[in-house]
Amino acid sequence: MSYETNNIFAKILRGEIPTQRLYEDDFALAFPDIAPNAPTHVLVIPKGPYARYDDFIALASNAQIVGFFRAVRTVAAQLGASDYRLITNNGEGAGQSVQHFHAHILAGKKLGALLPND
Ligand code: 5GP
Repeated sequence: MSYETNNIFAKILRGEIPTQRLYEDDFALAFPDIAPNAPTHVLVIPKGPYARYDDFIALASNAQIVGFFRAVRTVAAQLGASDYRLITNNGEGAGQSVQHFHAHILAGKKLGALLPND
């Protein structure tokens, strides 16, 4: 899938849109979700042009993939979250609304069913 370089998360990554940079390393950036679905709701994005999870796995190097998922774990630990939910929506049909691969970390309360009743 092609990558649109002016998506919101690309702008956040480049510092063109302000956010609270909770964690950053060579592979990933973490920042709070603007519309949290739990007391803790943080987004983690890779530092590369990957529109969705499928693209990240297909195109990123092993070092980038491992680095990204280690960063997710570091962010969760930094947030003090021992129990948390990790979600990525792969494609619009799955609920993806921003076309830069991202993982949601949700925590801070007892989380209910995986999917709400439609
Ligand atoms: P998706 O629906 O693609 O899985 O998740 C996108 C998430 O990005 C949503 O939870 C939404 O609230 C969040 N979001 C959208 N625009 C912004 C923004 O400008 N800043 C931040 N911090 N989060 C955003």
